[in-house]
Amino acid sequence: MTSPHSAVDLLHEMGARPGEPLNRCTFVQVGGPAEWFLAVDRREALVEAVRAARRSQLGLTVLGAGSNVLIRDGGLRGLVIKNDTRGCRQIDETLIEVDSGVRFAALARSTARAGLSGLEWAAGIPGAIGGGLPTNAGAYGSELCDVLVSVQALNRAGETVTLDAADLGLSYRDSRVRSGDLQGCIVTALTLQLERGDVAASEREIDRVESLRKANAPVGPSLGSTFRNPSVGPTAGERIEQAGLKGERIGSAQVSERHANYIQNVDVPNARAADFLALIARVQDRVASHSGIRLEPEIAVIGEESSNG
Ligand SMILES: Cc1cc2nc3c(=O)[nH]c(=O)nc-3n(C[C@H](O)[C@H](O)[C@H](O)COP(=O)(O)OP(=O)(O)OC[C@H]3O[C@@H](n4cnc5c(N)ncnc54)[C@H](O)[C@@H]3O)c2cc1C
Repeated sequence: MTSPHSAVDLLHEMGARPGEPLNRCTFVQVGGPAEWFLAVDRREALVEAVRAARRSQLGLTVLGAGSNVLIRDGGLRGLVIKNDTRGCRQIDETLIEVDSGVRFAALARSTARAGLSGLEWAAGIPGAIGGGLPTNAGAYGSELCDVLVSVQALNRAGETVTLDAADLGLSYRDSRVRSGDLQGCIVTALTLQLERGDVAASEREIDRVESLRKANAPVGPSLGSTFRNPSVGPTAGERIEQAGLKGERIGSAQVSERHANYIQNVDVPNARAADFLALIARVQDRVASHSGIRLEPEIAVIGEESSNG
C-alpha cells in the first residue's frame, strides 16, 4: 500500500495520519488499517480533503459512524476521511440544511425539540445522515427519501453539484450513489423538508421507537441488519431463523439470538473481518438451500484482503 511521493507530502500537510486501525471507526469494531486517515469536523475541510484526494488520484473512502460497513482485515488504500461535520442550519420555518456527518439520533432529538416533525423514526439509527444516503436509510415505515429535498455533493471530478432527491434513484436500501452512475459522489450536505410538529408528541414517538429497538435488537458491536429484505415473502431475519441459523458462530461473528438479521461481534479483542465474511457466506448458502433465495448484503463490504490470510 503506497501513495505517490507528492501525494504523501500533501497528506502530511492536511494532517492525515498513516496506518490508523479502522476497528476504532466502525460500529462492529473490526477492520484493518487505513493507509492514510483524516478526521474532519467542518464542511470546508471535508471538501478540501476530497478534492485533494481526487487531484492526487488517491483511493478515497468517506466514513460517517462506520455503522453500515464491513472493512476487510487488509484495510483501505489511499485516504479514509472520517466525517464528523455537524453543522445544521434552518433555511425557513420547516426547511433545514444539515452537514452529511450529522448523526441521525442527535438530529431526530434536536429537530423534535425545535418543534419540527419528520425524523422521529430515525432516532435509533447509529449512523450519520450522509452515510444513510446511499442506502436510503429507513425504519418503521419511513425513509430518508420521505423528507429529502436535495443533496450537495462532490462528483468524481471534485466539483460541487446539487442533486434533487428525485434524481437520486432512492429506493429500498438503494440509490444511484450506492449502485448506479453516482457511485463515488461524496455527499457534503442534505436539505430536508420537515413539518411543524408538537414537541411532546415527537418526543413520545422517539421514546416509543427507542423502546421498540431495545426490545427487538441486540446491544453491543454488530453489523446491524446485515442483509436486505427480499422483495417478496419472509424478511431476511425470518429466513435466517427458518434456516436454523440463530446463534450460528464463526470466531467472533455470531448470528444474534435476538434478531437473526443482526451479526454481532461477540469477541471484540480477537475479532477479524474474515470471520464475519465467512459467516455471511454461510448464511447466504444455508438460506439459499433452505428457501431458494440468496440474501444480498445491505452493508457495504470494502477494503483489501489481509495478506496474513
Ligand atoms: C445497530 C444498528 C442499527 C441500524 N439500524 C438501521 C435502521 O433502522 N435503518 C437503516 O436504514 N440503517 C440502519 N443501520 C445501518 C446504518 O446505521 C445506517 O445506514 C447509517 O445511516 C449509516 O451511516 P454511517 O455514517 O454509519 O455510514 P458508514 O457505515 O460510515 O458508511 C456507509 C457507506 O456509505 C458511504 N458513505 C459514508 N458517508 C458518505 C458520504 N458523506 N457521501 C457518500 N457516501 C458516504 C461509505 O463509504 C460506505 O460505503 C443500523 C446499523 C446498526 C449497526
